[in-house]
Amino acid sequence: MNVCKVCGKSLKISTPKAFDARYGYPDYFDILYCPNCGLFQTHPPLTQDDIGPLYSNYYPYADIDPEKIKTGFQPELENKAKLKNWIIGNHRIQNMLPQGTGKILEVGCGDGRSLLQLKALGYEAYGIEADKNIEPIKNALGLNIHIGTIENAPFEPKTFDIVTANQLIEHIVDLNSFITYSKKFLKDGGILILSTPNANSLYRLMFGQKWINWHIPFHQQVFTLKSLKNLLEKNGLKIFKSKTVTPTSWTLHQLDAFRHPSKIGVKNPYWMIKKATSNNQRSIKQNLFKKFILKIIVGIITLVNRIIDSLYLGDCLVVYIK
Ligand SMILES: [Zn+2]
Repeated sequence: MNVCKVCGKSLKISTPKAFDARYGYPDYFDILYCPNCGLFQTHPPLTQDDIGPLYSNYYPYADIDPEKIKTGFQPELENKAKLKNWIIGNHRIQNMLPQGTGKILEVGCGDGRSLLQLKALGYEAYGIEADKNIEPIKNALGLNIHIGTIENAPFEPKTFDIVTANQLIEHIVDLNSFITYSKKFLKDGGILILSTPNANSLYRLMFGQKWINWHIPFHQQVFTLKSLKNLLEKNGLKIFKSKTVTPTSWTLHQLDAFRHPSKIGVKNPYWMIKKATSNNQRSIKQNLFKKFILKIIVGIITLVNRIIDSLYLGDCLVVYIK
């Protein structure tokens, strides 16, 4: 019998035969859910050995140019845009942090832009990233990034004041190991901050199987606040603050996904990295009208999302843990 990896109770089937709607992974998976804590779990689960080939064969990492980040990304400006980031529902933890000092570790730091932002806020920033493609960026930008996993990271115990992970824990195969190591690297009194999709979101209820945050099989689980709380408490940690944030961009992707249906085993061009297309053929007038309508739609979505978040029913959970 399949049991919940957080609370150990038996699971029920939520969605049979779910599949990768974005990058063409060829197998079906079931989405199971736990009637006790609300956790959704992808079944069969992946093993640690599946992860490397899965991501290198199916996950489309951008052709990241260190020079573009150096010249095109302005961390100071991003840090100043607090109001804009609140309005558009930016779920990234670095955008929610005040200026500060001390050591901070981001697990799953990607191309390192978040570390540049954290440095600009005054922190001593470190990252962990499993993707080897980050190596040239790490070197070009002079960032402290451990290429590997949290389990083999070379940091001393009790090093960091803050450990963060943006949209990562839902991908993790061994949850207890991830929490154990996050805790190990925190100083006494340090804070762990996580952002992750919210299984209790209104859009999950509305869109059902079509909810974009299932992201099968890359997401191994989707948490409710209760299931996340259970997992952390089992590991001696406690949530002291939480909220939901619904990015406008996620909702636009959600609506757009309906116009770009997916087939199992076929890469959906909508989700692949886009190249700029030429607009020469369209008349300027038509463009202006379209832009105007789009702005109104985006404005309405943004307003609706802030209301949804005020009701704690948003698409992304952000939790502060001690
Ligand atoms: Zn459970």
